[in-house]
Amino acid sequence: MSSSAIIVGAGIVGLATARALSIRGYKVTVIERSSKAVGASVRNFGMVWPVGQPDGVLYERAMKSRSVWKSVADSIGFWYDECGSLHTAYYEDEWQVLQELYDAFKANGRPVQLLSKKDVLEKFNGVNENELIGGLYSATELIVDPRVAITSIADYLKEFLEVEFIWDAAVTEVQTGKVKAGNTIIQADLICICSGADFETLYPEMYKQQQLTKCKLQMLRFAPLEHDWRIGTAVCGGLSLIHYNSFKVAPSLPVLKERYSGEMSEYLQWGIHVMVSQNEKGELTVGDSHEYGLTFDPFDQSFINELIIQYLRQFMICNDWKLVQSWNGIYPKSTVGQTEIFVQAEQGVYVVNGLSGAGMTLSFGLAEELVEKM
Ligand SMILES: Cc1cc2nc3c(=O)[nH]c(=O)nc-3n(C[C@H](O)[C@H](O)[C@H](O)COP(=O)(O)OP(=O)(O)OC[C@H]3O[C@@H](n4cnc5c(N)ncnc54)[C@H](O)[C@@H]3O)c2cc1C
Repeated sequence: MSSSAIIVGAGIVGLATARALSIRGYKVTVIERSSKAVGASVRNFGMVWPVGQPDGVLYERAMKSRSVWKSVADSIGFWYDECGSLHTAYYEDEWQVLQELYDAFKANGRPVQLLSKKDVLEKFNGVNENELIGGLYSATELIVDPRVAITSIADYLKEFLEVEFIWDAAVTEVQTGKVKAGNTIIQADLICICSGADFETLYPEMYKQQQLTKCKLQMLRFAPLEHDWRIGTAVCGGLSLIHYNSFKVAPSLPVLKERYSGEMSEYLQWGIHVMVSQNEKGELTVGDSHEYGLTFDPFDQSFINELIIQYLRQFMICNDWKLVQSWNGIYPKSTVGQTEIFVQAEQGVYVVNGLSGAGMTLSFGLAEELVEKM
């Protein structure tokens, strides 16, 4: 008889773990407390973003995830766009960093191109030409629409891998070999807890030892004037250069950061950097800010959204874009720089969490590695 596994949580981490166990022969059941996933996994940009991961294990993990995303999407038929990414430079110090990144990435075999202003404007739509110097294009980034993709992955797991889903069932207790959801006890050989930002409910004492905090991000969605208008890639302004670990290889990055600290302190205070992704319908997802803590003010701050829009105007021509939605999302984040939490809470019970702002990029690859250790 095959071994059985229960996954708590139907966000991307739970779904990726369910997939990895299922293809290794486990009979998997996913238990989700809501009637559909409504956590960080459906609130993000949908950016599968290897360019943000440093060389080595994390970049390889991101590239592995990318290939799994494509194969799952091709099997069940949800939209994705292998549109790559463009980091833009409007100041000489940003351009200097992009040139250094180009050299470092190229040396490690990454598919990047340094584009002049003319190249950027010829290749892509909507990029603001005023003061534009050039951009760094990377071919590895892939965009999905998380609101569609997360539901579709669950459908894929049901249809192709016979994973069972129990929705609207909060798991309130876990012990070796069994979980309790409502009045029902469900048994399994292996239990994986992938509960995202809720690390208060199950094993709270274990979590207290993990040096985790939470991060709240504000996001915006715009509709373009013309439905079939496309940028052609995902675009970032200069502030994103100080956000991703992979960019630390640029020797000039500290100088750039120092200028931003002096001239853009409010942006740094609220952790704002601005990126744009475009979904199948042409809608533009724009964000974000980063506030840290265990409890947040539940209300979004309009001045943060205004700062985001003001910065967006520096690199995108967006006056015609119509603001259609705003929301926030929360993810757990290590305070000591860990890229994930993987803990055996007790015999046969594992916790996978803390993928921070890279869960869409890393989950599929990470799950492949972790199930080998379970
Ligand atoms: C605004 C925003 C933008 C982001 N952009 C990107 C991006 O573009 N690219 C990228 O790679 N990453 C991005 N991220 C990060 C990424 O979204 C997260 O790392 C990832 O979604 C975390 O997935 P998860 O499964 O751990 O959490 P979640 O998606 O929150 O899923 C956890 C699930 O567990 C369920 N659950 C919790 N407790 C229980 C219980 N007791 N019983 C049953 N169910 C339970 C919850 O209901 C929830 O559905 C972004 C995050 C945010 C917030």
